[in-house]
Amino acid sequence: MAEIRTDIVIIGAGIAGLWTYRHLKSLGYDVLLLEREAIGAGQTLASQGIIHSGLKYAFAGQINELARSISAMPDLWRAALKGQGPVDLSAARMNAESQILLVPSGLMGGLVKLVTKKVLGGRVREIPKTEWPADIKASGFKGSLIYMDEPVLDVSSVIKALAGDIRLSADPLATLKDHGITAQKIIVTAAGSNADIAAKQGHDNGLATQKRPLLMGMLKPAPFELYAHLVGTSDKPVATITTHKREDGTLVWYLGGGVAERAKESNPQEVIDAARAGFKKYLPGIDLSAVEWGTLPIDRVEGKSDKDGWMPDTPTIHSAGDMLYCWPTKLTFSPLLSKRIAEILAEENIKPSGVTNDWSFLPEAPFAKGPWETDQWS
Ligand SMILES: Cc1cc2nc3c(=O)[nH]c(=O)nc-3n(C[C@H](O)[C@H](O)[C@H](O)COP(=O)(O)OP(=O)(O)OC[C@H]3O[C@@H](n4cnc5c(N)ncnc54)[C@H](O)[C@@H]3O)c2cc1C
Repeated sequence: MAEIRTDIVIIGAGIAGLWTYRHLKSLGYDVLLLEREAIGAGQTLASQGIIHSGLKYAFAGQINELARSISAMPDLWRAALKGQGPVDLSAARMNAESQILLVPSGLMGGLVKLVTKKVLGGRVREIPKTEWPADIKASGFKGSLIYMDEPVLDVSSVIKALAGDIRLSADPLATLKDHGITAQKIIVTAAGSNADIAAKQGHDNGLATQKRPLLMGMLKPAPFELYAHLVGTSDKPVATITTHKREDGTLVWYLGGGVAERAKESNPQEVIDAARAGFKKYLPGIDLSAVEWGTLPIDRVEGKSDKDGWMPDTPTIHSAGDMLYCWPTKLTFSPLLSKRIAEILAEENIKPSGVTNDWSFLPEAPFAKGPWETDQWS
Protein backbone atom coordinates (compact mmCIF):
# COMPACT_ATOMS: atom_id res chain seq x y z
CA MET A 1 0.00 0.00 0.00
CA ALA A 2 1.36 3.39 -0.98
CA GLU A 3 1.70 5.92 1.82
CA ILE A 4 -0.42 9.08 1.57
CA ARG A 5 1.32 12.03 3.22
CA THR A 6 -0.78 14.97 4.35
CA ASP A 7 0.00 17.93 6.60
CA ILE A 8 -2.86 17.80 9.07
CA VAL A 9 -5.62 15.36 10.03
CA ILE A 10 -8.48 16.73 12.12
CA ILE A 11 -10.83 14.35 13.94
CA GLY A 12 -14.32 15.71 14.65
CA ALA A 13 -16.36 18.22 12.61
CA GLY A 14 -17.90 20.40 15.28
CA ILE A 15 -17.19 24.12 15.35
CA ALA A 16 -13.64 23.55 16.68
CA GLY A 17 -12.67 21.13 13.90
CA LEU A 18 -14.41 23.15 11.20
CA TRP A 19 -12.96 26.55 12.12
CA THR A 20 -9.48 25.00 12.46
CA TYR A 21 -9.92 23.21 9.10
CA ARG A 22 -10.73 26.48 7.32
CA HIS A 23 -8.04 28.44 9.12
CA LEU A 24 -5.27 25.92 8.42
CA LYS A 25 -6.35 25.52 4.80
CA SER A 26 -6.16 29.31 4.40
CA LEU A 27 -2.54 29.08 5.67
CA GLY A 28 -1.76 26.58 2.90
CA TYR A 29 -1.85 23.28 4.82
CA ASP A 30 -3.25 20.13 3.22
CA VAL A 31 -5.96 19.02 5.68
CA LEU A 32 -8.12 15.90 6.02
CA LEU A 33 -11.12 16.35 8.34
CA LEU A 34 -12.79 13.12 9.47
CA GLU A 35 -16.20 13.05 11.20
CA ARG A 36 -17.79 9.91 12.60
CA GLU A 37 -21.49 10.87 12.44
CA ALA A 38 -22.50 14.14 10.76
CA ILE A 39 -21.08 17.67 10.48
CA GLY A 40 -22.14 19.67 13.55
CA ALA A 41 -23.69 16.60 15.19
CA GLY A 42 -22.32 17.15 18.69
CA GLN A 43 -22.73 20.26 20.81
CA THR A 44 -22.31 22.66 17.90
CA LEU A 45 -25.76 22.40 16.28
CA ALA A 46 -27.30 21.92 19.73
CA SER A 47 -25.81 25.22 20.91
CA GLN A 48 -27.76 28.44 21.17
CA GLY A 49 -25.34 30.17 18.81
CA ILE A 50 -24.74 33.14 21.09
CA ILE A 51 -21.43 34.92 20.64
CA HIS A 52 -21.01 35.88 24.27
CA SER A 53 -19.57 39.24 25.21
CA GLY A 54 -18.82 38.24 28.78
CA LEU A 55 -21.83 39.89 30.39
CA LYS A 56 -23.34 36.61 31.56
CA TYR A 57 -20.11 35.74 33.38
CA ALA A 58 -19.63 39.21 34.76
CA PHE A 59 -23.16 39.07 36.08
CA ALA A 60 -22.43 35.79 37.87
CA GLY A 61 -19.55 37.48 39.66
CA GLN A 62 -16.93 36.09 37.29
CA ILE A 63 -15.31 39.44 36.46
CA ASN A 64 -12.15 37.78 35.38
CA GLU A 65 -10.03 36.79 32.44
CA LEU A 66 -12.99 34.93 30.96
CA ALA A 67 -15.24 37.98 30.85
CA ARG A 68 -12.41 40.11 29.50
CA SER A 69 -11.05 37.75 26.85
CA ILE A 70 -14.54 36.95 25.64
CA SER A 71 -15.49 40.60 25.15
CA ALA A 72 -13.40 40.79 21.94
CA MET A 73 -15.28 37.91 20.34
CA PRO A 74 -18.40 39.65 18.93
CA ASP A 75 -16.25 41.96 16.78
CA LEU A 76 -14.07 39.09 15.57
CA TRP A 77 -17.11 37.03 14.52
CA ARG A 78 -18.79 40.04 12.89
CA ALA A 79 -15.63 40.62 10.84
CA ALA A 80 -15.64 36.94 9.77
CA LEU A 81 -19.31 37.27 8.77
CA LYS A 82 -18.32 40.21 6.55
CA GLY A 83 -15.59 38.09 4.96
CA GLN A 84 -12.87 40.03 6.81
CA GLY A 85 -11.84 37.56 9.49
CA PRO A 86 -9.30 34.76 9.78
CA VAL A 87 -11.88 32.61 8.00
CA ASP A 88 -14.54 33.70 5.50
CA LEU A 89 -18.03 33.40 6.94
CA SER A 90 -19.66 35.73 4.43
CA ALA A 91 -21.99 32.91 3.34
CA ALA A 92 -23.26 32.47 6.93
CA ARG A 93 -26.10 34.33 8.65
CA MET A 94 -26.92 35.72 12.05
CA ASN A 95 -30.27 34.99 13.63
CA ALA A 96 -29.98 38.25 15.56
CA GLU A 97 -27.55 41.18 15.62
CA SER A 98 -27.75 41.44 19.39
CA GLN A 99 -29.44 40.05 22.50
CA ILE A 100 -31.36 41.66 25.28
CA LEU A 101 -31.14 41.24 29.01
CA LEU A 102 -34.54 41.27 30.68
CA VAL A 103 -34.03 42.52 34.24
CA PRO A 104 -37.27 42.36 36.26
CA SER A 105 -38.11 45.34 38.51
CA GLY A 106 -36.27 45.33 41.78
CA LEU A 107 -34.09 42.40 40.78
CA MET A 108 -30.51 43.52 41.11
CA GLY A 109 -31.07 46.06 38.37
CA GLY A 110 -28.55 48.42 39.92
CA LEU A 111 -25.97 45.68 40.29
CA VAL A 112 -26.43 44.51 36.71
CA LYS A 113 -25.94 48.03 35.47
CA LEU A 114 -22.84 48.54 37.61
CA VAL A 115 -21.26 45.23 36.64
CA THR A 116 -21.98 45.58 32.97
CA LYS A 117 -20.62 49.13 32.86
CA LYS A 118 -17.47 48.14 34.72
CA VAL A 119 -16.66 45.10 32.60
CA LEU A 120 -18.08 45.86 29.22
CA GLY A 121 -18.04 49.63 28.97
CA GLY A 122 -20.21 50.78 26.10
CA ARG A 123 -21.16 47.29 24.92
CA VAL A 124 -24.38 47.39 26.94
CA ARG A 125 -26.98 50.12 27.37
CA GLU A 126 -30.44 50.39 28.76
CA ILE A 127 -33.19 50.49 26.12
CA PRO A 128 -35.67 53.31 26.87
CA LYS A 129 -39.24 52.08 27.30
CA THR A 130 -40.33 54.02 24.25
CA GLU A 131 -38.03 51.80 22.13
CA TRP A 132 -39.09 48.41 23.58
CA PRO A 133 -40.15 45.87 20.94
CA ALA A 134 -43.95 45.62 20.72
CA ASP A 135 -43.89 41.90 21.64
CA ILE A 136 -42.02 42.62 24.90
CA LYS A 137 -44.47 45.40 25.76
CA ALA A 138 -47.36 42.97 25.11
CA SER A 139 -45.68 40.24 27.22
CA GLY A 140 -46.43 42.15 30.41
CA PHE A 141 -42.73 42.29 31.33
CA LYS A 142 -41.94 44.84 34.06
CA GLY A 143 -38.38 45.99 34.60
CA SER A 144 -35.41 47.12 32.51
CA LEU A 145 -34.31 46.03 29.06
CA ILE A 146 -30.59 46.07 28.45
CA TYR A 147 -29.11 45.89 24.96
CA MET A 148 -26.24 43.39 24.75
CA ASP A 149 -23.69 43.38 21.98
CA GLU A 150 -23.99 39.62 21.49
CA PRO A 151 -24.76 38.39 17.98
CA VAL A 152 -26.69 35.13 17.71
CA LEU A 153 -25.54 32.92 14.86
CA ASP A 154 -27.57 30.72 12.58
CA VAL A 155 -25.19 27.87 13.41
CA SER A 156 -26.39 25.68 10.59
CA SER A 157 -25.34 28.35 8.07
CA VAL A 158 -22.00 28.78 9.86
CA ILE A 159 -21.07 25.12 9.62
CA LYS A 160 -22.09 25.08 5.95
CA ALA A 161 -19.88 28.12 5.29
CA LEU A 162 -16.93 26.46 7.04
CA ALA A 163 -17.32 22.94 5.69
CA GLY A 164 -15.44 21.82 2.62
CA ASP A 165 -14.36 18.36 1.77
CA ILE A 166 -15.33 16.59 5.03
CA ARG A 167 -15.12 12.82 5.09
CA LEU A 168 -16.99 10.22 7.12
CA SER A 169 -15.23 7.66 9.28
CA ALA A 170 -16.58 5.70 12.24
CA ASP A 171 -13.02 5.14 13.44
CA PRO A 172 -10.64 7.81 12.11
CA LEU A 173 -7.42 6.28 13.45
CA ALA A 174 -8.30 2.94 11.83
CA THR A 175 -9.11 4.76 8.56
CA LEU A 176 -5.69 6.43 8.61
CA LYS A 177 -4.01 3.06 9.21
CA ASP A 178 -6.09 1.21 6.61
CA HIS A 179 -5.27 3.75 3.88
CA GLY A 180 -1.65 4.37 4.92
CA ILE A 181 -2.40 8.06 5.63
CA THR A 182 0.21 9.85 7.74
CA ALA A 183 0.22 13.46 8.88
CA GLN A 184 2.62 15.96 10.39
CA LYS A 185 0.05 16.59 13.13
CA ILE A 186 -3.27 15.04 14.17
CA ILE A 187 -5.68 17.47 15.80
CA VAL A 188 -8.46 15.87 17.83
CA THR A 189 -11.58 18.03 18.19
CA ALA A 190 -13.95 15.19 19.07
CA ALA A 191 -15.25 16.73 22.34
CA GLY A 192 -16.50 13.82 24.51
CA SER A 193 -14.35 11.33 22.55
CA ASN A 194 -11.09 13.24 23.02
CA ALA A 195 -10.31 11.46 26.29
CA ASP A 196 -11.09 7.99 24.86
CA ILE A 197 -8.91 8.57 21.81
CA ALA A 198 -6.09 9.88 24.02
CA ALA A 199 -6.39 6.85 26.34
CA LYS A 200 -6.17 4.46 23.37
CA GLN A 201 -3.05 6.26 22.14
CA GLY A 202 -1.48 6.28 25.61
CA HIS A 203 -1.74 10.07 25.55
CA ASP A 204 -3.95 10.61 28.59
CA ASN A 205 -1.25 11.45 31.12
CA GLY A 206 -2.10 15.00 32.28
CA LEU A 207 -5.26 15.21 30.19
CA ALA A 208 -8.07 16.74 32.25
CA THR A 209 -11.57 17.21 30.91
CA GLN A 210 -15.03 17.81 32.36
CA LYS A 211 -18.65 17.43 31.35
CA ARG A 212 -21.40 19.73 32.59
CA PRO A 213 -24.90 18.41 31.88
CA LEU A 214 -27.93 20.29 30.60
CA LEU A 215 -31.51 19.34 29.96
CA MET A 216 -32.43 21.96 27.38
CA GLY A 217 -36.07 22.96 26.84
CA MET A 218 -37.87 23.67 23.56
CA LEU A 219 -41.32 24.98 22.81
CA LYS A 220 -43.20 25.49 19.55
CA PRO A 221 -44.71 27.49 18.04
CA ALA A 222 -42.70 30.31 19.65
CA PRO A 223 -44.89 33.29 20.60
CA PHE A 224 -42.45 35.66 18.81
CA GLU A 225 -38.78 35.97 17.91
CA LEU A 226 -36.73 36.52 21.07
CA TYR A 227 -33.01 36.39 21.90
CA ALA A 228 -32.68 37.16 25.60
CA HIS A 229 -31.33 36.30 29.01
CA LEU A 230 -34.18 36.53 31.52
CA VAL A 231 -32.59 37.48 34.84
CA GLY A 232 -33.90 36.17 38.18
CA THR A 233 -32.55 36.00 41.69
CA SER A 234 -29.79 33.42 41.16
CA ASP A 235 -26.42 33.89 39.45
CA LYS A 236 -27.70 32.04 36.35
CA PRO A 237 -30.47 33.59 34.26
CA VAL A 238 -33.93 32.06 34.78
CA ALA A 239 -33.78 31.21 31.08
CA THR A 240 -31.68 32.05 28.07
CA ILE A 241 -34.04 32.14 25.13
CA THR A 242 -33.05 31.84 21.48
CA THR A 243 -35.36 31.40 18.50
CA HIS A 244 -34.77 28.87 15.72
CA LYS A 245 -36.70 28.24 12.53
CA ARG A 246 -37.57 24.64 11.72
CA GLU A 247 -37.50 23.41 8.13
CA ASP A 248 -41.34 23.51 8.14
CA GLY A 249 -41.14 27.25 8.99
CA THR A 250 -42.31 26.92 12.62
CA LEU A 251 -40.43 29.05 15.14
CA VAL A 252 -39.03 27.31 18.21
CA TRP A 253 -37.91 28.82 21.50
CA TYR A 254 -34.81 26.98 22.69
CA LEU A 255 -34.37 27.37 26.44
CA GLY A 256 -31.05 27.26 28.28
CA GLY A 257 -29.90 28.97 31.49
CA GLY A 258 -31.49 28.08 34.83
CA VAL A 259 -34.33 25.99 33.42
CA ALA A 260 -31.79 23.67 31.76
CA GLU A 261 -29.13 23.46 34.47
CA ARG A 262 -29.92 20.00 35.83
CA ALA A 263 -28.91 16.37 35.42
CA LYS A 264 -29.62 14.96 31.95
CA GLU A 265 -31.59 12.11 33.55
CA SER A 266 -33.98 14.52 35.33
CA ASN A 267 -37.67 14.25 34.54
CA PRO A 268 -38.26 16.46 31.44
CA GLN A 269 -41.38 17.77 33.15
CA GLU A 270 -39.09 19.65 35.58
CA VAL A 271 -37.79 21.76 32.69
CA ILE A 272 -41.27 22.43 31.38
CA ASP A 273 -42.55 23.37 34.85
CA ALA A 274 -39.57 25.67 35.49
CA ALA A 275 -40.04 27.38 32.11
CA ARG A 276 -43.78 27.80 32.60
CA ALA A 277 -43.25 29.24 36.11
CA GLY A 278 -40.57 31.68 34.88
CA PHE A 279 -42.66 32.92 31.97
CA LYS A 280 -45.80 33.21 34.12
CA LYS A 281 -43.93 35.31 36.68
CA TYR A 282 -41.97 37.60 34.39
CA LEU A 283 -43.77 37.53 31.00
CA PRO A 284 -47.36 36.95 32.15
CA GLY A 285 -48.92 38.18 28.91
CA ILE A 286 -47.54 35.25 26.92
CA ASP A 287 -50.04 32.50 26.16
CA LEU A 288 -48.36 29.10 26.32
CA SER A 289 -51.57 27.08 26.61
CA ALA A 290 -51.27 25.49 23.16
CA VAL A 291 -47.52 25.02 22.73
CA GLU A 292 -45.74 21.69 22.30
CA TRP A 293 -42.68 20.98 24.43
CA GLY A 294 -39.44 19.12 23.83
CA THR A 295 -36.25 18.55 25.81
CA LEU A 296 -32.68 17.67 24.91
CA PRO A 297 -30.26 16.01 27.35
CA ILE A 298 -26.70 17.02 26.45
CA ASP A 299 -23.28 17.60 28.02
CA ARG A 300 -21.04 20.59 27.60
CA VAL A 301 -17.56 19.08 27.19
CA GLU A 302 -14.48 21.15 27.93
CA GLY A 303 -11.04 21.13 29.56
CA LYS A 304 -11.16 20.84 33.34
CA SER A 305 -11.71 24.08 35.19
CA ASP A 306 -10.13 24.71 38.59
CA LYS A 307 -13.39 26.37 39.70
CA ASP A 308 -16.10 23.84 40.54
CA GLY A 309 -19.13 24.01 38.25
CA TRP A 310 -17.48 26.58 35.97
CA MET A 311 -15.88 26.35 32.57
CA PRO A 312 -12.20 27.20 31.95
CA ASP A 313 -11.31 30.80 31.01
CA THR A 314 -9.84 29.87 27.63
CA PRO A 315 -9.78 27.01 25.13
CA THR A 316 -7.83 23.96 26.31
CA ILE A 317 -5.18 22.05 24.34
CA HIS A 318 -3.49 18.85 25.53
CA SER A 319 -0.41 18.02 23.49
CA ALA A 320 0.98 14.48 23.36
CA GLY A 321 3.17 12.83 20.71
CA ASP A 322 2.14 14.10 17.30
CA MET A 323 -1.42 14.82 18.48
CA LEU A 324 -3.24 17.84 19.91
CA TYR A 325 -6.45 17.22 21.87
CA CYS A 326 -8.57 20.36 21.81
CA TRP A 327 -11.67 21.83 23.46
CA PRO A 328 -12.79 25.36 22.49
CA THR A 329 -14.75 25.72 25.80
CA LYS A 330 -17.39 27.76 23.95
CA LEU A 331 -18.39 28.02 20.32
CA THR A 332 -17.54 31.71 20.78
CA PHE A 333 -13.89 30.79 21.45
CA SER A 334 -13.20 28.58 18.41
CA PRO A 335 -11.25 31.36 16.64
CA LEU A 336 -8.93 31.61 19.67
CA LEU A 337 -8.46 27.84 19.70
CA SER A 338 -7.52 27.68 16.04
CA LYS A 339 -5.17 30.68 16.38
CA ARG A 340 -3.36 28.86 19.19
CA ILE A 341 -3.18 25.66 17.11
CA ALA A 342 -1.60 27.61 14.23
CA GLU A 343 0.90 29.09 16.69
CA ILE A 344 1.83 25.61 17.97
CA LEU A 345 2.38 24.41 14.39
CA ALA A 346 4.64 27.40 13.75
CA GLU A 347 6.53 26.83 17.02
CA GLU A 348 7.09 23.18 16.03
CA ASN A 349 8.20 24.23 12.56
CA ILE A 350 5.35 22.33 10.92
CA LYS A 351 4.90 24.02 7.57
CA PRO A 352 2.58 23.44 4.62
CA SER A 353 4.32 20.80 2.49
CA GLY A 354 2.75 21.88 -0.77
CA VAL A 355 0.90 18.58 -1.32
CA THR A 356 -2.79 18.62 -2.25
CA ASN A 357 -4.56 15.33 -1.68
CA ASP A 358 -7.84 14.22 -3.20
CA TRP A 359 -9.87 12.53 -0.44
CA SER A 360 -12.77 11.47 -2.66
CA PHE A 361 -11.96 7.78 -2.08
CA LEU A 362 -13.42 8.27 1.43
CA PRO A 363 -17.21 8.68 1.90
CA GLU A 364 -18.56 12.20 2.27
CA ALA A 365 -19.87 13.29 5.69
CA PRO A 366 -23.50 14.50 5.78
CA PHE A 367 -24.72 17.60 7.65
CA ALA A 368 -26.52 17.16 10.97
CA LYS A 369 -29.81 18.91 11.80
CA GLY A 370 -30.67 21.08 14.80
CA PRO A 371 -32.31 19.27 17.74
CA TRP A 372 -35.60 21.14 17.13
CA GLU A 373 -35.93 19.23 13.83
CA THR A 374 -35.33 15.75 15.12
CA ASP A 375 -36.48 15.50 18.70
CA GLN A 376 -39.76 14.25 20.06
CA TRP A 377 -42.45 16.83 20.78
CA SER A 378 -45.43 16.44 23.10
C1 LIG B 1 -26.98 23.09 24.82
C2 LIG B 1 -25.73 23.86 24.57
C3 LIG B 1 -25.80 25.22 24.26
C4 LIG B 1 -24.63 25.95 24.02
N1 LIG B 1 -24.75 27.26 23.66
C5 LIG B 1 -23.62 27.96 23.37
C6 LIG B 1 -23.72 29.31 22.94
O1 LIG B 1 -24.82 29.86 22.81
N2 LIG B 1 -22.56 29.97 22.66
C7 LIG B 1 -21.33 29.39 22.80
O2 LIG B 1 -20.34 30.05 22.55
N3 LIG B 1 -21.21 28.09 23.18
C8 LIG B 1 -22.31 27.37 23.46
N4 LIG B 1 -22.22 26.06 23.84
C9 LIG B 1 -20.89 25.44 23.88
C10 LIG B 1 -20.50 25.03 22.47
O3 LIG B 1 -21.59 24.44 21.80
C11 LIG B 1 -19.32 24.07 22.49
O4 LIG B 1 -18.28 24.62 23.27
C12 LIG B 1 -18.78 23.80 21.09
O5 LIG B 1 -19.82 23.51 20.18
C13 LIG B 1 -17.81 22.64 21.16
O6 LIG B 1 -17.37 22.40 19.85
P1 LIG B 1 -16.52 21.13 19.51
O7 LIG B 1 -16.24 21.20 18.07
O8 LIG B 1 -15.37 21.01 20.46
O9 LIG B 1 -17.44 19.89 19.90
P2 LIG B 1 -18.73 19.27 19.20
O10 LIG B 1 -19.60 20.31 18.64
O11 LIG B 1 -19.34 18.38 20.23
O12 LIG B 1 -18.14 18.43 17.99
C14 LIG B 1 -17.44 17.24 18.15
C15 LIG B 1 -17.56 16.48 16.85
O13 LIG B 1 -16.72 15.36 16.90
C16 LIG B 1 -17.42 14.23 16.38
N5 LIG B 1 -16.79 13.04 16.96
C17 LIG B 1 -16.91 12.56 18.23
N6 LIG B 1 -16.16 11.47 18.37
C18 LIG B 1 -15.57 11.24 17.17
C19 LIG B 1 -14.69 10.25 16.70
N7 LIG B 1 -14.24 9.27 17.49
N8 LIG B 1 -14.28 10.31 15.41
C20 LIG B 1 -14.70 11.31 14.60
N9 LIG B 1 -15.54 12.26 14.99
C21 LIG B 1 -15.97 12.24 16.27
C22 LIG B 1 -18.85 14.45 16.83
O14 LIG B 1 -19.77 13.68 16.04
C23 LIG B 1 -18.99 15.95 16.61
O15 LIG B 1 -19.36 16.25 15.28
C24 LIG B 1 -23.36 25.31 24.10
C25 LIG B 1 -23.28 23.95 24.42
C26 LIG B 1 -24.45 23.23 24.64
C27 LIG B 1 -24.35 21.77 24.96
